[in-house]
Amino acid sequence: MKVLIINSGSSSLKFQLLDFDKRVVMAQGICERIGIDNSRIQFRRYDEEKIKHNRDFETHEDAVRAMVEILTSPQYGVISDLAEIEAIGHRVVHGAESFAEPAVVTEEVKDCIREAFLWGPLHNPANLLGIEVCERLMEGIPQVAVFDTAFHQTMPPEAYLYALPYELYEEHGVRRYGFHGTSHQYVSERAAAMCESDPENCKIIVCHLGNGSSLCAVKNGKSIDTSMGLTPLAGLPMGTRCGDIDPAIPGFIADVEHLTLQEIDNLMNKRSGVLGLSGISSDFRDLVAARDRGHARAKLAIDIFTYQLKKYIGAYAAALGGLDILCFTAGVGENDDELRYEVCKDLGFLGIEIDQEKNRGLRSKEARISTKDSKVAVLVIPTNEELSIARQTVRLLGLADA
Ligand code: AMP
Repeated sequence: MKVLIINSGSSSLKFQLLDFDKRVVMAQGICERIGIDNSRIQFRRYDEEKIKHNRDFETHEDAVRAMVEILTSPQYGVISDLAEIEAIGHRVVHGAESFAEPAVVTEEVKDCIREAFLWGPLHNPANLLGIEVCERLMEGIPQVAVFDTAFHQTMPPEAYLYALPYELYEEHGVRRYGFHGTSHQYVSERAAAMCESDPENCKIIVCHLGNGSSLCAVKNGKSIDTSMGLTPLAGLPMGTRCGDIDPAIPGFIADVEHLTLQEIDNLMNKRSGVLGLSGISSDFRDLVAARDRGHARAKLAIDIFTYQLKKYIGAYAAALGGLDILCFTAGVGENDDELRYEVCKDLGFLGIEIDQEKNRGLRSKEARISTKDSKVAVLVIPTNEELSIARQTVRLLGLADA
């Protein structure tokens, strides 16, 4: 069964065609710089070299046309007819309180995605555009929307409400929503399976550490807390986002730097995090290399990230009332063995004992990196959001036991 996964952003459209039964990526690609000059499509067929074409994409519709053309092209393609695709799964960032589960795309579902523009102004319009274009160009193929926020809808009010006037929640939906839900769900399910634990009776912390980072506390298969908030700006410091800060700071900066709200928003989203701290890069590989050359502020940025991560693990172990499994995923979590060691080495009091023989040099591979006697299993699990979206799509449409 072939399932197409679409992640439509404001100026890019990523796609992946999966042979779901074999769990194999048949082809994947990205249309970049939509509506900007020098737009291009990059495409890779299973086991083959990446190919790159410069194309003019004025609109998302042009991009989807280019994707269809290349997927069905006799020279590069992997299918001969679009009818071979049985379902399309779309990543949608914000489902607000309307979606605790994925949803088959209908007019009503599209209206709810539109209503959530308020909370996801950067992503939801582009996500909806991707859905609408696919409806037009690939008529008749069922489409499913899978929401980044949905997994966290199980959080209790004490975890999702802010101590602000309650009317702001009632009237404007000001609350914690959380993101990376597809990844947290996928990784926590894999974690329970790897440990042969009953997912319904298991306390897990997932650390999704990439350009954007968030933690999730998963109790008995359900998210009970997560570090991102109303927006993805909250929680850990990230590549360019500040994470948790004193909420009075934006007002203070406005006074001393004479910046507008929009400029401060830009500063906190684009110029902060480990980029702002180090002054050199948002990319952890650059920071690790600079630290190893003796760059003091690169070291400081990594130390602050590590410290905040440890604090969150402690807080979530308390929220969960104990801990069975700690997971690392995404670019930094899957690859940075030193960071994993630094985070875990002082957490023996929580029952976390990392085995450096297993941890050292481990990259992008599922593995258990705790000692045999460690009370908490520490795992590295490469995230696979596309597979998770495909699984949820297939399951919802009743196409197979997924
Ligand atoms: P993601 O957003 O999941 O793609 O993760 C991107 C982040 O992972 C970037 O900051 C990369 O520098 C980081 N990353 C990838 N490989 C490594 C590595 N070997 N060591 C440290 N960080 C890495």
